[in-house]
Amino acid sequence: MIIVMEHSAGASQIAAVIAALEGRGYSTHLSAGEERTVIGVIGDGRPIDGRQFEALEGVEKVMPVLRPFKLASREMQPQNTVVALNGVKVGGPQVVLIAGPCSVESRSQLLETAHAVKEAGASALRGGAFKPRTSPYSFQGMGEAGLELLAEARAATGLPIVSEAMSPEQVPLVARYADVVQIGARSMQNFALLRAAGLSGRPVLLKRGMMATIEEWLMAAEYVLAQGNPRLMLCERGIRTFEHYTRNTTDINAIPVVKHLSHLPVLLDPSHSTGRWTYVTAVARAGVAAGADGLMVEVHPRPDEALSDGGQSLTPERFARLVTQVRALAEAVGRRVPEAK
Ligand code: PEP
Ligand code: MN
Repeated sequence: MIIVMEHSAGASQIAAVIAALEGRGYSTHLSAGEERTVIGVIGDGRPIDGRQFEALEGVEKVMPVLRPFKLASREMQPQNTVVALNGVKVGGPQVVLIAGPCSVESRSQLLETAHAVKEAGASALRGGAFKPRTSPYSFQGMGEAGLELLAEARAATGLPIVSEAMSPEQVPLVARYADVVQIGARSMQNFALLRAAGLSGRPVLLKRGMMATIEEWLMAAEYVLAQGNPRLMLCERGIRTFEHYTRNTTDINAIPVVKHLSHLPVLLDPSHSTGRWTYVTAVARAGVAAGADGLMVEVHPRPDEALSDGGQSLTPERFARLVTQVRALAEAVGRRVPEAK
């Protein structure tokens, strides 16, 4: 349920409504927009009788939130969530680029990539230290040693770090080194992991499961938000279809749909979406045209030597060309890619 306050409602009236709700055992979510203040009411799933709050001073109307996701919904918070990453704002007018290798493989590989993507205009560095691999015999990531290298790359470049945690136990470790905790597609419905990420104290980047509907994805987001962590970004990374010429099928529709349903920032990962570097730039452009708040792109200095996802990784030179094109496209849709610092 949401309580929409009158335009003229003052701080004391808003506080009185919140006190009345919390006094009845509900938790509240305040969204103070420029136009109006909306108070979200979260109960325990049982229907809430809103009539009792209609008569409170300053209340304009009481409305149910019909969608199953509550905190993630636009009804609860009409204005966009903006997640700040070292001064760069995700979810605002800028289109933010996160780039780096699929996996951290070595000091030289990571530092070379970090400097190159920064120079090209990336605002954050990605790199997996714990890798979700289909085969247990494939490279599983460097673990904590990889996180240490990511921290070194941050110190050298100033780029904030995005890295995946695969289990609830890994979250505090990843959160100690990384600026953003990534939840991978295969983990999207690991509810214990989502809760741990919600409690990590770090912004979270939640990828869409390859078999997940948009609603399931937003319900996964709800788990993170329900732990009191509002700094959440969503990332579309392609879904499974019958098509085999690409690794996944980019669900471009999901970008405007989620922007409509939710206030959360939505990024696109054109690398896992396509699985082939030759298609990455075209799909990146499509994502920005569709309204994505950012892109997450895999870059490797020598893709043919990569220990994971080399086939979909751009060289630094190709990434620089992607940035040029995406920058022009962003401007065409009234957005901006931050200049390389
Ligand atoms: C990744 O970003 O490194 C990754 C494993 O992607 P996904 O979870 O989308 O497959
Ligand atoms: Mn990858």
